[in-house]
Amino acid sequence: MGLFGDSNPKEVLVAGQPLHCEICKNDLFWQREAQLNTAVATFFNFDWANATAQCYVCDHCGYIHWFLPNR
Ligand SMILES: [Zn+2]
Repeated sequence: MGLFGDSNPKEVLVAGQPLHCEICKNDLFWQREAQLNTAVATFFNFDWANATAQCYVCDHCGYIHWFLPNR
């Protein structure tokens, strides 16, 4: 795949637990940060405009797992 500059997909821990894909139960992900821009934040009525979300893209099926910052 290699879309995000990493050489290999990686196992991911979320809240101390290994992340498994919601769809295919794979445990290898490509990591990427996604900027939540002001327009999107305003649309959803968030008060943390320009926050950064962590995205983990399943290496097997491509499902994107989003994690918002704890605010
Ligand atoms: Zn998957």
